[in-house]
Order: sequence, then C-alpha cells, then structure tokens
Amino acid sequence: MKLIFASNNQHKIEELKAFCGKEIDIVSLKDADIDIDIPEPHDTLEENASEKSWTIYKITGNDCFSEDTGLEIEALNGEPGVKSARYAGEARSFKDNIEKVLNNLANETNRNARFRAVISLIIEGKETQFEGICNGKIIDTPQGTEGFGYDPIFIPDGSNRSFAEMSIEEKNRFNHRTKAAAKLVTFLQNMKTNSTN
Ligand code: IMP
Repeated sequence: MKLIFASNNQHKIEELKAFCGKEIDIVSLKDADIDIDIPEPHDTLEENASEKSWTIYKITGNDCFSEDTGLEIEALNGEPGVKSARYAGEARSFKDNIEKVLNNLANETNRNARFRAVISLIIEGKETQFEGICNGKIIDTPQGTEGFGYDPIFIPDGSNRSFAEMSIEEKNRFNHRTKAAAKLVTFLQNMKTNSTN
C-alpha cells in the first residue's frame, strides 16, 4: 500500500521506511513533489498531527499519515512536550534545545522522561490516531552522533546507550515512533482482511 508521509524530517522518514518497508510504500513529501512547511500551531500532539495529515490530504486527495512527537520530562512537568522543536526558540536548533533541557535539569536527580509520538492516518477521508511511547532517562552529557533532536541525551529503558549511539535498526527496537507505526500497520492489515471477507 502506498501512503504519503506528511514530513520533511529525513530522519523520521528513514526510521519509518526501515520499519514499515515491507508493509507500506512510504512516499515522502519531497518524492510527492510537495514543497510545504506545515505549521504546528496547537497545544497538543494530537491536534498538530491531525493538522499535518489533513493539510496533505486536502492538497493531494491521497491516503496519507503524519506524526508529531514530544519529549516529556517528569521533573519539568512534561516539558518540552508539544514545544519540543522550538523549546529554545524559533531557530529550532537541536543543540540549543539540548542545552536548555540540561540547564533546566542541572540540580535535578529525577531524570525520568519519555518520548510520546502520535500518528494521524487518513484513509479515504477518515482519520485514525495511534500513540507510541518510549520511556527512558535524560543523561548529563550528550553522547553519540547519530539520529537527531534530543537523541544524544536520551537513554531508553532497557539500554545503556543513548539513541544517538544507535543505528536506525537498534533505535527502532525502542522507538516511540515505530511503536505507533506498528499499530498503524496492524490497523491496515485488519482493514485489508475485513475487505476481503
Ligand atoms: P516534531 O514536531 O514531531 O517534528 O518533533 C518535535 C521535536 O522533537 C523535534 O524537533 C526533535 O527535536 C524532537 N524529536 C522528535 N522525535 C525525536 C526522536 O526520535 N529523537 C529525538 N528527538 C526527537
């Protein structure tokens, strides 16, 4: 099945292509020749994900999905959360965002955090959402050079390496985004089964 993924983030596209490759033919915005920076104006991941997928559905009329993720840190009352991309300002700098998190956690012993991803899927004009969560800890010093965003300061439960020290395949064993995508794949498989019965 072919689905447009409403994202310009090459890392997210690679992670999901590696995970869903056999089940879904994921078409990036670039491959679909759509040049758009979709706004994320809302206060929840669910609303932002919805905004992104409906924007692309209205432009193309094609089945599509989008994804919105937040890093939720326990000691910061769930921040940066929905503001993760712009935590340190409109420049959306990964380095500045990491610095701000580490400064805010400077004297904090509770390092519990989680990534929460929400996928919005639109099939024939009907939306369904899927959630994926990865629990872990924020470390004191960035480690690793792979990945993007907050990967260098996040260690998922069950590992002693940061996401930025992992290959895509290794990160995908813990990844919030692929957990949500696994639900999406099951949903599409059930849809296919029901339509052939
Ligand atoms: P978005 O709005 O869903 O594109 O993501 C918000 C921000 O969260 C991104 O700019 C990244 O800084 C961060 N983020 C999202 N997913 C990940 C991830 O898998 N690892 C690290 N940071 C992430």
